[in-house]
Amino acid sequence: MFIDGKWKKAVSGAEFGVFNPATGDLIDRVPDAGPRDVADAINAADKAFPSWSSLTAYQRSQYLYTAWKLMLDRKEDLARTMTLEQGKPLAAARNEIQYGADFLLWFAEEAKRVYGQTIPSARPDQRFIVLKQALGVVGAITPWNYPVSMITRKLAPALAAGCTVVLKPAEATPLCALEMFKIFEAAQFPPGVVNLVTTLDPKPVGQAFVSNPIVRKLTFTGSTQVGKLLAREAAGNMKRISLELGGHAPFIVYDDADPVHAAKGAVLVKFLNTGQACISPNRIFVPRHMVDAFTREFTMRVMAMKPGNGMDAGVKIGPLVGPEALLKVEKQVKDALDKGAKLIAGGRRLTEGALSNGYFYAPTVLTHVTREMLIFREETFGPVAPIIAYDPEEDVIEMANDTVYGLAAYVYTKSTSRAMTAFERLRFGIIGINDINPTSAAAPFGGMKDSGMGREGSREGINEYLETKLGGFSI
Ligand code: ADP
Repeated sequence: MFIDGKWKKAVSGAEFGVFNPATGDLIDRVPDAGPRDVADAINAADKAFPSWSSLTAYQRSQYLYTAWKLMLDRKEDLARTMTLEQGKPLAAARNEIQYGADFLLWFAEEAKRVYGQTIPSARPDQRFIVLKQALGVVGAITPWNYPVSMITRKLAPALAAGCTVVLKPAEATPLCALEMFKIFEAAQFPPGVVNLVTTLDPKPVGQAFVSNPIVRKLTFTGSTQVGKLLAREAAGNMKRISLELGGHAPFIVYDDADPVHAAKGAVLVKFLNTGQACISPNRIFVPRHMVDAFTREFTMRVMAMKPGNGMDAGVKIGPLVGPEALLKVEKQVKDALDKGAKLIAGGRRLTEGALSNGYFYAPTVLTHVTREMLIFREETFGPVAPIIAYDPEEDVIEMANDTVYGLAAYVYTKSTSRAMTAFERLRFGIIGINDINPTSAAAPFGGMKDSGMGREGSREGINEYLETKLGGFSI
């Protein structure tokens, strides 16, 4: 762990193992933090806050810029650690490192653009000035599916704003976090500005973040269930929160869309990270008369994607993260088939040869999916593509919005009018119009409804770590 500028074991000496989801092999062991370690990290962040927040924005920017350069220098090693620990194909891991590095550069620049305001007063003797100031110590909790970019997406704006941070990464992917902290160490961030605690049981650390009065803000990416739990507890102590939670993205194909282009896009985004993404399409809506043609094209492309160990050349689909993920996928597929869905491809675990010790599930296509099925409601987080026929067109926006989630949605059409109508009516925070990658460090990422609150990246991202302070001056 990295606490107060030093590498440390847990006070208790406890450790836990990190495993490769493609092979089941033990990769390494890391410290298992207890309450003492977390308190030490929070205290270190508290001690570092006054001087870090007093640096000029230009000085803080320089640290982030150095970390950005180091991250790009170490891109290949970071990508390999990610594939080993998380399972995604190496090419996808490289893309994630680039995306993760983008946040360091973006917020190195945004640090210099934290503007206040002057406001005219109705009183001739009065002046109003609004300051934006760092809000204090931040507790950050990140998930395993994007184990590097979710760290920089939170830490870069927090550090740029002048906050100090304690990070708790997911228990499945602490090694990516350790590698990132080696970069922060090499960039010579002052002691206590960035702190890392690794732990197998996230509950005590989550508790410390929401209950310790020093922590002023919790930023969390993970499941809606845990996000709500933490939000409830944070509310009791009036802490600021940002939550990036689950999703259930609709992918709407209109009947003027090119079915080949739409199928190509749908396959690429559905099977990205083996479906383990909060912006993964979970319901693919196709006009009833186009379902056969679309499904043929879609399935042909699915069958061409090779599952396997992400380290192997040509592999496009890696393993799921663990056994529970497999069980969830199996449950949803069984429920759908029991209720009348048709299995077009996949629908089973992959256990042949080298796959036998990993958590592999065949890329799966279902048609005849209806609103009664679990898969229409629950996030799948796996390589299953449910195709839903719609008819008439007027129904599809209502069907797409029929979810408690509101993160990402995708629309394929050549009509500007349909595109604009869908863009305006869909209740989701991120809409891809003929575009399967509507994400960038420069663009706001976040959801509505049960998908959370707050935005990461973009000009908005840094606001999550700032307080607004008004000065009224009588002259
Ligand atoms: P997922 O289903 O994607 O693993 P989780 O919400 O369980 O989503 O995990 C996301 C992050 O939240 C991880 O870092 C995990 O350790 C952490 N986490 C899970 N449960 C809790 C909890 N009760 N308190 C604090 N953090 C938690």
